[in-house]
Amino acid sequence: MHEMGITQGILAASVDAVKGEGGTRINEIRISVGEMTEVVEDALQFAFEALRAEPDYAMAAGAVLLVTHVPASSACPTCDGEVFEHGRFDGQCPKCGNPFVEPRSGHELRIDSIDFD
Ligand SMILES: [Zn+2]
Repeated sequence: MHEMGITQGILAASVDAVKGEGGTRINEIRISVGEMTEVVEDALQFAFEALRAEPDYAMAAGAVLLVTHVPASSACPTCDGEVFEHGRFDGQCPKCGNPFVEPRSGHELRIDSIDFD
């Protein structure tokens, strides 16, 4: 389960950022997770609840994690770069069937904002 490592990274980066801003308590962390990352939100939330209790992340002990899901999309070069959304395993152009499309979204895994005191 790679969610544990990802969550650790999110918490460590958040704590660093908030310390840098002179904050002492994290209330909320918003992240975006792309469809193609194969990150499971339940596992992410489970890891978050387990890790935020650790002394290293004490300032996040009462924080909540809000996840925005980003659907996967790609552009088809043979259809004038038309962008279409698709699932994790069906990334071919729905118009012409071209499997060689250019990924546009769905690979993101980033912190959007941190609310802190
Ligand atoms: Zn096409």
